[in-house]
Amino acid sequence: MDINILRHSTAHLLAHAVVELFPGTQLTIGPATEDGFFYDFVAPRSIKEEDLDHIQARMWELSQKNYPIEHKQISKDEARVIFKDNPFKLELINEIPEATVGITIQGDWIDLCRGGHVACTGDIKHFKLLNVSGSYWRGKRDGQALQRISGTAFFSREDLEEFDRIRQEAALYDHRKLGKQLDLFSFHEEGVGFPFYHPKGKAVINAMINYLRHEQDLAGYKEVQTPMMLSEGLWHRSGHWNFYKDNMFFCGMDHENYAVKPMNCPGAFLIYNERPRSYRELPLRVSEFGMVHRNELSGVLHGLLRVRAFTVDDAHIFITPDQIESEVLGIIALLKRVLTKYGLTNIKAFLATRPEKAMGSTAIWEKAEAALKAALDKVGMAYEVDAGGGAFYGPKIDFKFTDSLKREWQCGTVQLDFFQPENFDLTYVAPSGQKERPVIVHRALYGSVERFFAVLLEHYKGALPFWLAPEQVRILTITDDAIAYGQDILNQLKAMQVRAVLDQSSDQISAKIRTAQVEKVPMMLVLGKKEVEHNTISVRTLDGKQEMGVSVEAVKQKISALR
Ligand SMILES: [Zn+2]
Ligand SMILES: [Zn+2]
Repeated sequence: MDINILRHSTAHLLAHAVVELFPGTQLTIGPATEDGFFYDFVAPRSIKEEDLDHIQARMWELSQKNYPIEHKQISKDEARVIFKDNPFKLELINEIPEATVGITIQGDWIDLCRGGHVACTGDIKHFKLLNVSGSYWRGKRDGQALQRISGTAFFSREDLEEFDRIRQEAALYDHRKLGKQLDLFSFHEEGVGFPFYHPKGKAVINAMINYLRHEQDLAGYKEVQTPMMLSEGLWHRSGHWNFYKDNMFFCGMDHENYAVKPMNCPGAFLIYNERPRSYRELPLRVSEFGMVHRNELSGVLHGLLRVRAFTVDDAHIFITPDQIESEVLGIIALLKRVLTKYGLTNIKAFLATRPEKAMGSTAIWEKAEAALKAALDKVGMAYEVDAGGGAFYGPKIDFKFTDSLKREWQCGTVQLDFFQPENFDLTYVAPSGQKERPVIVHRALYGSVERFFAVLLEHYKGALPFWLAPEQVRILTITDDAIAYGQDILNQLKAMQVRAVLDQSSDQISAKIRTAQVEKVPMMLVLGKKEVEHNTISVRTLDGKQEMGVSVEAVKQKISALR
């Protein structure tokens, strides 16, 4: 049986319990989600985390009563009588195109529902309520405010226990907690949803960007920077205004309306169109570490994972239709190399193909989809096909990886686009002298730099690998006599662009080492009287290993090998 059926049935069980415990509660919807379920309510009083145990206990009682779960179709008029006091259900009933609607009955409790349940409430045994949060009716910020209870359910106790174990471990290494402990970033009421990077957090972001910048340079990309805000007319033309305006920030300039960019695409198109292009320039790979702003609902903001301002490692690649396969092959190879550098190897691809309503000829779609498949096959990457799941303007590949806590994350995307070349009248001069339309590839590898950073922090439990660590080396002096020697080594490391710090405080060496360990500094160079005399270094790593009497040259070589 599909686990979504069990989870949706558990959402019913939750709603049943809440209605019994909080009479007068209005139910809205309760779907299964990727890793559980939720139900959204309007309750007579605010439901708190402390209430969850109580609600869960009532759910357990209802499960033990083992009510049969009955589902049947009734006329809309009958349904309107049953749900006469619930404006949400009435709205849903009115929207259902069929003449009848489905209802679910367990015991004396009824819900409006499409169906798909387990047979009896007793089939629901291994479940857990996870949290309470705020939401809005239909996810719209001007909609009625609702309370959401989320939970999960599994078929076996072992699966639930495994979920719980991973969840507890994840809470221990929550990036928001690590961000505070390691002094990486913070959030402030004065800019809700906007991250503030502290020196150490910024050092990691810079390392991530500089590494990718170098890889992209090797792969023939040219980096640009386009403005943070652009005229509203441009966003009308690009179509973003139509689809995205609820999530965009607007402002004015020179008596004209401007919008803060929610995406980087149009800027790249304007650069392309600045002068005539020849086929000789293609593929033209225009990259941008572009900060975008999106007005997410405050309830869904979540540390660096969900913010209102983030940096996309964007690229727009202009190609001829014949270059699709080779270009996508190059992108996937680059993605693989980059993720491997981060220690992420379990990568899966999802290919979304032509939807029913699509623009462009069938011929170009077939050609493009075949090219994407060929590229995935050639690079030997496992993929699933989401038939009909593509955007109307072109097929795409999404990439996901699994982290050390066995969670799956989406990172990069390769999106082909047949629409914007027409829309922005982009052309190149073909060998024949004729003007032709290029195909655009929208591409990101990290996706959001902020989100990728958060995932890395949790994946590595705060102990980032040497090349990425905000502070790579800490020099610790045992006595004041070693300070001058330590300063000299610091200067040499800084000249090599190593992120190094000299701790010359008067603390005991054992305390200095402990502090460096808590702050997850991967390499400690300990300097005492003996080291000064012999011009050597005692090297300690985060795993507790220590090597005495290492020459300065040998330490430098060690460091170079780690970068
Ligand atoms: Zn149902
Ligand atoms: Zn784009």
